[in-house]
Amino acid sequence: MTIHRKLLVIDLDQTLIHADEKPFEHAQTKVGEFHLAIRPGIVEMLERLQPHYDFVLWSNSSPSYIHEMLAAFWPEQIPMTGILSRADCSKLVKHGQGEPHFKDVKTIRARFPQYRREDIVGIDDKPEVYANNYGNLIRVVPYRGENDYELEQLTDYLISVANCPDLRKLEKRGWKAAVRKLRYLAEIVDDEPVPS
Ligand SMILES: [Mg+2]
Repeated sequence: MTIHRKLLVIDLDQTLIHADEKPFEHAQTKVGEFHLAIRPGIVEMLERLQPHYDFVLWSNSSPSYIHEMLAAFWPEQIPMTGILSRADCSKLVKHGQGEPHFKDVKTIRARFPQYRREDIVGIDDKPEVYANNYGNLIRVVPYRGENDYELEQLTDYLISVANCPDLRKLEKRGWKAAVRKLRYLAEIVDDEPVPS
């Protein structure tokens, strides 16, 4: 059986970082005009996922903002397959006005045709941007600068499904319960008495 490379499409704001022009309590550093907090666990996540997944970053913001932020935390040793920005988002039309909004899997496929639709998974704090492709989404809790374990849990989950032949068919809304179950099972194995 051929194992196809998986593609993880990573959102930036409120998924990996929180940036604000105004100072905020948990800000760690300043990048250009922005106060910035970086979510714990990014480097470990990328290193642990690298054997299974390639990475694309997709943010509904400008390329210059994306590059400025990435320079603050993306580890040099982790290759990036590509970057998509606001200009790549499909438009949500309201009152005749179109605003870049949706992250469409067909856009990812057009840009990176080496990945099959069933091997693409996006992580995002805004499910509505995946409204055209809910099957390709894993929703994360928005990050606003307070420490959490979201990325560590997500990494465990993504590793557990890395050999799944069709990520779209997985019920991913309960992914945190799946992680708790995995950890519980791992503890049972750890606690088993060593045979004498
Ligand atoms: Mg976001």
